[in-house]
Amino acid sequence: MSELLIDVRGLHAGYGGIPVVRNLNLTVAPGEVVALLGPNGAGKTTTLLTLSGLLTPLEGTVEVLGEKVDGTRPHMIPRRGLAHVAEDRSLFFDLTVYENIRLGLTGNRASRQAAYDRAMDLLPALKPLRDRLAGLLSGGEQQMLAVARALVSEPKCLLVDEMSLGLAPIIVERLLPIVRNIADETGCGVLVVEQHVHMALEVADRGYVLNHGEVRLEGTAAELRANRSVLEASYLGEAAV
Ligand code: ATP
Repeated sequence: MSELLIDVRGLHAGYGGIPVVRNLNLTVAPGEVVALLGPNGAGKTTTLLTLSGLLTPLEGTVEVLGEKVDGTRPHMIPRRGLAHVAEDRSLFFDLTVYENIRLGLTGNRASRQAAYDRAMDLLPALKPLRDRLAGLLSGGEQQMLAVARALVSEPKCLLVDEMSLGLAPIIVERLLPIVRNIADETGCGVLVVEQHVHMALEVADRGYVLNHGEVRLEGTAAELRANRSVLEASYLGEAAV
């Protein structure tokens, strides 16, 4: 069994048999934060949907937590230890913070409480908001709630799709270190899709830049940060890997 949490090789993924992601090779190891970057329509969400088993790979292999994902039994993948925070956050606005989190809790009363407490240790700003309706939270608080609900399942691997969607940069600056902390404190591997490239590379270990469905650039976060012109060119589709 591979040490990697996510091991994608030669993936073609898309819709109606037409690939929008082509020949993707991507890995995530325990404790790593990996940024999946790229302009709108590059194929980032499509990649995450394929990892979660919600889209069947057209070609290539996708292993998540040591087992192949073929898109036929997506409900089994969270049970292996993969959690996916979707772009739309999927919160119930007329339920409280605690009630939303409770939807992700399993096990007996003691283990549910322990999982809740561990999530609150990682997201302490949510603690005083326990009884507030999710619909009354700020955008940043809603994003934290979506992450908290994913965390209470105690995942080994976490996918986060555009944490920053609709949020002011100053809020994003506060949110992104949370994923770094989750990886450091729990050993969870995190794959984070992000539009705020430079902020993402401040917290990530490594990154991949997708453009038009293909990886244009990849490397350690330090390499990508140091190579700003190549990074920017890769967004325009002009850089080679
Ligand atoms: P963004 O940053 O804007 O969310 P993205 O990198 O996540 O973009 P995807 O959502 O993966 O990009 O979309 C990749 C391509 O696939 C786009 O051209 C998009 O229009 C197309 N696409 C996405 N969803 C579908 C779908 N359900 N059916 C057909 N095409 C789709």
